[in-house]
Amino acid sequence: ERWLFWHRRDLRLADNRGLAAAAAATPAVTGVFVLDPAILSDPSMAPARLWFLSESLRELQQAWQQAGSTLVVLRGDPAELLPRLAAGLGAAVVAWNRDVEPFGRERDRRVARALQADGRKVLADWDQLLVAPEALKTGAGDPYRVYGPYWRSWRRWVEEASATGTAASGGLDPLPPPSALIDLDPAQLAGALADLPLTNPELKHGFLEHGFGGAELCPCRPGEKAAQEQLAAFCDGDSRSISLLGYEPGRNIPGEAGTSGLSAALKFGTLSPRQAWAAAQQARPLARSEEERYSIQVWEQELAWREFYQQALFYFPELAEGPYRPQWRAFPWDNDSGWFEAWREGLTGMPIIDAAMRQLNESGWMHNRCRMIVASFLVKDLICDWRWGEAAFMARLVDGDLAANNGGWQWSASSGMDPKPLRIFNPATQAGKFDPEGTYIRTWLPELRHVATRDLISGEIAPLERRGYPAPLVNHKVQQARFKALYATIKG
Ligand code: FAD
Repeated sequence: ERWLFWHRRDLRLADNRGLAAAAAATPAVTGVFVLDPAILSDPSMAPARLWFLSESLRELQQAWQQAGSTLVVLRGDPAELLPRLAAGLGAAVVAWNRDVEPFGRERDRRVARALQADGRKVLADWDQLLVAPEALKTGAGDPYRVYGPYWRSWRRWVEEASATGTAASGGLDPLPPPSALIDLDPAQLAGALADLPLTNPELKHGFLEHGFGGAELCPCRPGEKAAQEQLAAFCDGDSRSISLLGYEPGRNIPGEAGTSGLSAALKFGTLSPRQAWAAAQQARPLARSEEERYSIQVWEQELAWREFYQQALFYFPELAEGPYRPQWRAFPWDNDSGWFEAWREGLTGMPIIDAAMRQLNESGWMHNRCRMIVASFLVKDLICDWRWGEAAFMARLVDGDLAANNGGWQWSASSGMDPKPLRIFNPATQAGKFDPEGTYIRTWLPELRHVATRDLISGEIAPLERRGYPAPLVNHKVQQARFKALYATIKG
């Protein structure tokens, strides 16, 4: 009996639960990935993500070959193509891993209906989260809306599941890749694919025509192998300043490579969250101090933030549409498109903001601390609807992910599930605290290298020193007062 395994955001062979379930049922498994024009041609599809996807797919296709079978890459609507492919291959079962996004869930329902109408079985279970959304509920039986209690029950659940070992017993141990798969014979395979819109990454180099020039600057490396190497280097305990053991406080210094750079790997599933968790557990004996042990926990908390936002989107899909707190729907935004443009292109005249936006524009990635600073600035200083910023991030981020991005923006805007009613970051204070030597600012704004650190941080640069760099768009104090006055009108 042949099975078809549909890859989506799980571009790896190892510890892929859906694929492992297929391979446990039969070695006769064929893989498929569908390039969906609805996703690829959406204006929110960042060139950096296309690059990461196309490179990861190319490697995945080779991995399938080495495992003994084939990964077919098609272009079109999955609900139309998957039934045709399954019929051509004579596949009795089609398996995949579940998603939390409203678009993906609706698509999956359409695909499942079409396959079942043809008499094929569908197998879909969770893989992209350590803890399935349904597994954790509050005492009252509701989904979590607050991170603190979610984290505590998430950790308890993960620790208990880890103790049980393998997936078969409900545990979290990473699964090995399938190795002895059986392919269709070449003539049969060619016949099955004959009239399908096939895209073969091996045949056509650069098949996604991504046009992304920032690969060298981006900390996220595509492909399953690179993800494993990055994870191992981060967790090995050798390079303390840029490793898991030095994560706290290193994670907050954007001028140092103090975080894992694994966000795109986790988004596209070249790495599984269980592999990330397991590596953190293996690093525990390397910790020599309370600080180092605490660093590991802080990183685990980040993995839990990822899952918190995913389960929130799963239960509250309306998050994707607008503010979680209803009073924010009435907020009287200025929405000055000139200011928004200046923010997006890194031309606000506030160095920490412009450096961060240039990092995003040039490398496809931005440090978390800076994401929080620029998001607060757009919303609270430029008084611009956070959804504009959310879309601008999606259009450029290599790790752009609806749940995490929406969660981050709603947190920064104060419109989300964060219990604190209002947060306003002072960009100069943030720069002084987290980029005290101006290292990060000088890296991304080389034209300001000559400026004194104090002025880089405050943004008060003498006109003669600017040499073409713009004067500040706004004054933080003035805008903060305006924002608070507007906020008073919706506070109710
Ligand atoms: P590390 O610090 O090494 O953390 C490990 C992993 O934990 C990350 O790879 C990521 O998967 C997860 N993680 C860490 N912090 C968060 C967080 N706050 N929320 C959710 N997951 C987290 N992250 C995305 O993956 N995609 C996005 O589109 C995205 N948009 C964001 C937008 C805003 C406004 C903000 C404030 C944050 C956003 N984040 C997003 C979260 C965070 O900034 C990135 O995950 C992080 O910078 C990635 O770097 P890293 O892999 O080195 O992270």
